[in-house]
Amino acid sequence: MLVDSFGRVATDLRVSLTDRCNLRCAYCMPPEGLDWLPKPDLLTGEEIVRLVTIGVERLGVREVRFTGGEPLLRRELVEIVAATAGLSPRPQVSVTTNGIGLARLAEPLARAGLDRVNVSLDTLDREVFVRLAHRDRLRDVLDGLAAATAAGLTPVKVNAVLMRGVNEHEAVPLLRFCLDRGYELRFIEQMPLDAQHGWRREEMITADEILGLLKDSFDLTEDDPRERGSAPAELFLVDGGPHRVGVIGSVTRPFCGACDRVRITADGQVRNCLFATEESDLRTALRSGVPDEELAARWIAAVRGKKAGHGIDDAAFLQPARPMSAIGG
Ligand code: SAM
Repeated sequence: MLVDSFGRVATDLRVSLTDRCNLRCAYCMPPEGLDWLPKPDLLTGEEIVRLVTIGVERLGVREVRFTGGEPLLRRELVEIVAATAGLSPRPQVSVTTNGIGLARLAEPLARAGLDRVNVSLDTLDREVFVRLAHRDRLRDVLDGLAAATAAGLTPVKVNAVLMRGVNEHEAVPLLRFCLDRGYELRFIEQMPLDAQHGWRREEMITADEILGLLKDSFDLTEDDPRERGSAPAELFLVDGGPHRVGVIGSVTRPFCGACDRVRITADGQVRNCLFATEESDLRTALRSGVPDEELAARWIAAVRGKKAGHGIDDAAFLQPARPMSAIGG
């Protein structure tokens, strides 16, 4: 198993399929984009499936989430999902996406064995979307969401990041929109993971503020905390339920003590924490022809060194060199 020195067991694997994205969300990357990873550095589809197989069959991974960058940009996505869903024991398979292209891909992905999607949606206003993401693609995202429901990729979860002076006024409309369509909305606190290093703690919208904005319009009651397990979101019943809204207070309400996640970047590095400053290279080992046992041993060692917490509140906190898009959110 993937156990760290504090006894936490990593069973939830996030695999980044590419660092490229077709949006330029301000909290993630600059409008001009980034220097993308060179193609030869990216794991091939076969290499990804080999690592996922080792994770599931040897190391106790029970949930696999494909992310990026934008995972729907990866041509082999349907095949990678099918191979993952075919593993034994079968893991839960999900994708985190901005939704662009989902209108076309939801059905084939569902047929390949995808269980669920998380779709990022920060605004319902086309102008705000263009200002925030620097692309005019709101319609594509909304179509993608509808297609996900139609394909049975449920519960469809929606991730929203609020930025002060940009979309904070949309907390209530976003929740109404999601309630009306049966999507489960989660607000994520903005984290210091942007490529521009523009994050300022005093500017971020905190979980307390988000809840304050929502409580003006909805009656929120805390859902049974035992239901939360290792999930990052604190869940609240909306107007008595059954619908819920989540708040992921990564910065102000860290949940590192219950973290069960481990990540593999698109270029084959194991990261034991979103905020880790060190990575363990599996790609070089993989390409040098080592057997699965050796790869598993390296992966186990990488997780063992996980720190107790992300340390954002420490005076010595250093933002990781890789931005969110290159880590895999
Ligand atoms: N492209 C896909 C998407 O848009 O969902 C997957 C990758 S994206 C990095 C995954 C999630 O991370 C998205 O919900 C996005 O909003 C969130 N995210 C990116 N940068 C963030 C930041 N600095 N703070 C909080 N969330 C962030």
